Amino acid sequence: MAMGTLPHALVIPYPAQGHVIPLMELSHCLLDHGFMITFVNTEFNHSRMVASLQKTGGDNERIRLVAIPDGLAPGEDRNEVGKLCDSALSFMPSALEELIGRIDKSNDGNITCVIADASMAWALEVGRKMGIRGAALWPASVGLLAQIFNIPKLIEDSIIDANGYPSKHQMIKLSPTMPMMNTEHLSWLCINDNNVQQSLFRYANHINRALESADWLLCNSFHEIEQSAFELVPNILPIGPLLAGRRLGRLEGNFWREDSTCLSWLDKQPACSVIYVAFGSFTVFDQCQFQELALGLELSGHPFLWVVRPDLMDGSSDAYPDGFKERVVDRSLIVGWSPQQKVLAHPSIGCFLSHCGWNSTMEGLSNGVPFLCWPYFTDQFLNKAYISDVWKVGLGFIPDGNGIIPREEIKGKLDELLGDDGIRARSSELKEMARKQVGEGGSSLKNFNSFIEAMKLEKGWVY
Ligand code: UDP
Repeated sequence: MAMGTLPHALVIPYPAQGHVIPLMELSHCLLDHGFMITFVNTEFNHSRMVASLQKTGGDNERIRLVAIPDGLAPGEDRNEVGKLCDSALSFMPSALEELIGRIDKSNDGNITCVIADASMAWALEVGRKMGIRGAALWPASVGLLAQIFNIPKLIEDSIIDANGYPSKHQMIKLSPTMPMMNTEHLSWLCINDNNVQQSLFRYANHINRALESADWLLCNSFHEIEQSAFELVPNILPIGPLLAGRRLGRLEGNFWREDSTCLSWLDKQPACSVIYVAFGSFTVFDQCQFQELALGLELSGHPFLWVVRPDLMDGSSDAYPDGFKERVVDRSLIVGWSPQQKVLAHPSIGCFLSHCGWNSTMEGLSNGVPFLCWPYFTDQFLNKAYISDVWKVGLGFIPDGNGIIPREEIKGKLDELLGDDGIRARSSELKEMARKQVGEGGSSLKNFNSFIEAMKLEKGWVY
């Protein structure tokens, strides 16, 4: 087939690690079906991703990595989500339009569809304006999307006001069968700053509006684990779990260089013995809680693999308790960034001490690994409720009166979790359930195939 006749998808994730990884996996799935892929990062994330690339061969060269500016100044903090969201709405649409125009004029083959992270739903509007069909992938739980879609109803029921603030702090349920949630944990309130909250609320309302017109809305989930949320978002098409990292030689989209030494270290540990400790790409610890965690892991006596990102700590560079590293050297490994999906698939892993980001949740679930839940913000509290109360594949912690999770609590819950055969058995059942969705005849695979057929149509939608 000549270059110009291949379906050519422009894939654009929200500029954060937990969004780039699932969108990259979706790109690989499209590549397997004969698509050309242009993957659009912000310039900032593009440089991080390219810097952390390892020469693995495989598909790395087949996905074209391109970048657009995010509209922020060079030294600005990209973890300031409010600013990033404002800039995504005001600056990035014109940058994307320009990029598509440039690609279409080049010899690389016109863009035939835009596949946007649902958190970048404005990109669908750009595509629509240019006559290009589009689809969105929601990379978090359907439960979180239900929360966002329910904003008008939450206002109507006076649970929140027109600016997104709760009328009072209370536990609510979006539907009788959804888990309870604290109004303080509504996703736009995750950062304790009025301006940020207002930016996030504006952004959530934008997503709400822009997704109304999406022709396809996919998600990285499946019916069996979120029945009641799917009832609240009936038009969404589950294609999960999306798991890229276990396939050798595939570009995963990491912002940090993976330290693969942990896989050979895991090879030397007994089956189901190791506690894997990782808090995703965003979580930040203060020194006091970090030290309690270290001492809790030490006190537990179990082997552990701990991901301590270079920016995990708030401030101090050497925050470990005195002598800690020497005392645990024989039964621990600390790395800056792990090949997490391969780690979770390793038979030595006994449990996952996790911040419960949705990707981590799906990865743990798909590998049958029991969870110890340590949510940090946004949807992680809902994901924790799924894990511990709905699926019953994990436990949570009880903080002390100062809001700190003490070392004895960490040791106690680790012992309880590792000794709980019921949790282990349910974890295995869910693993099988997850695998079935994406295997031959599975519902996620069927959904994905129908989506592919539609995206391969030669003509764009008629608006
Ligand atoms: N991850 C990884 N290595 C690490 C820690 C995390 O590859 O050491 C990956 C993990 O597999 C997941 C993503 O980073 O795919 C984190 O996404 P998640 O939704 O769990 O959390 P977020 O970073 O968005 O808070």
